[in-house]
Amino acid sequence: ATSVNEYFQERKRKRAPLVFEPRPIELRSDEVVDGVAGLIGNTPLVRINSLSTALGVEILGKAEFMNPGGSVKDRVALRMITDAEQHGLLHPHTGSRIFEGTVGSTGISIATIARAKGYEATIIMPDDVAEEKVKALFALGAHVERVRPASIVDKKQFVNLARERAKHFGNEEAENPAKAIPTHHGHLIPTFSSSVIVTTTADDALADGALMSPEEEREFELKPRGFFADQFENRSNYYAHLDGTGPEIWRQTSGSVDAFVSGAGTGGTIAGTGQYLKSKKEDIIVALADPEGSGLFNKVKYGVMFDRKEAEGTKRRHQVDTVVEGIGINRLTHNFELALPIVDDAFRVTDEEAVAMSRYLVHHDGLFLGSSSACNLIACIRLVKKFGWNNGERVVTILCDSGSRHYSKFWNDDYLAKANIPVDMHLVDRILAGD
Ligand code: PMP
Repeated sequence: ATSVNEYFQERKRKRAPLVFEPRPIELRSDEVVDGVAGLIGNTPLVRINSLSTALGVEILGKAEFMNPGGSVKDRVALRMITDAEQHGLLHPHTGSRIFEGTVGSTGISIATIARAKGYEATIIMPDDVAEEKVKALFALGAHVERVRPASIVDKKQFVNLARERAKHFGNEEAENPAKAIPTHHGHLIPTFSSSVIVTTTADDALADGALMSPEEEREFELKPRGFFADQFENRSNYYAHLDGTGPEIWRQTSGSVDAFVSGAGTGGTIAGTGQYLKSKKEDIIVALADPEGSGLFNKVKYGVMFDRKEAEGTKRRHQVDTVVEGIGINRLTHNFELALPIVDDAFRVTDEEAVAMSRYLVHHDGLFLGSSSACNLIACIRLVKKFGWNNGERVVTILCDSGSRHYSKFWNDDYLAKANIPVDMHLVDRILAGD
């Protein structure tokens, strides 16, 4: 085995020439933005110089770690909360509480926006996720509950528990359902979790006394309530990317983009971004990067979630201690379902490959990234190799969060040694060489 230092020395000797001349730093925007929400999105697209040069294509990463909450999930949290406000399910400064089941990033994003908008946040997460995510949640004043990872059919699974907690918040009202608030979507029945949308007409509702008077409505608004954000099933997640990430990438590449590669947790990123890009350019390739133990690869390739034998050996979300956090799942979520018609290909990525890629990027590019970004970049190489590209084609992927969210696991060599995951400094070179 080569030590990190030996490896670095060797690479220095063979270093590729600089591609870009240094330029003065430009501001992302010269406008004053409106609070923390104004800092969300419009992230830069960064050329990954090492991989681009080695492959002869442009590998471009959407720098989502630059969002104020530190990840791509800021976009989703903002959209879920503003959509809920528009539908009358959340009212700021009324003591309302947002509940979410998350492996961390979405919780941090929700807690960030909750603070700025006058809500409380309860975040329920598995107890094996990296400790720094919990610390960030505490710093943001969120209430945190940690539970043993469990199967989705288990009541104590983190998503199910978040739904339950939201339902029972403001108990008295839950037992005594309020009347409907009229909206442009029909009538929203307040369920104290996600809304149930019914399609009776206003006249019918008024006639049977199911509609609120303006006074009743005001009183209703001012009562604290629980809102289950439900990122896995909530379509606002998909829209955040359909209206944000997708158009931004299209603009930043001036429409010159040949492939989009993304991992999936909820599926919102690949569904929304992929759908937008496909709507602009039909022959763009949308590909999934899938970590070890996830069933999504098989779903895309063969139409079935996983074969049993394979699933038994997996470590994904219903089991403990996954090294790659945030992507890979063994059930079909609504947001991933939206991606199925537009995903063309899928690539599996091992934990060892993701670890190797993250170290490679620090040493060659000074990019300190989290585990899902590293997975995405391995899949980018696989895609380029598969299609034999070497002529300046453009592949865009997502750099979901920074390495600073992963010190205690993915970026901890002791932890990796215990988990039997080697840190092989030559692995990315071998993948680049097509081994
Ligand atoms: N990377 C990280 C770090 C994440 O937290 C998530 C979301 N769980 C993803 C990637 C995947 O994004 P999506 O949920 O949109 O599929």
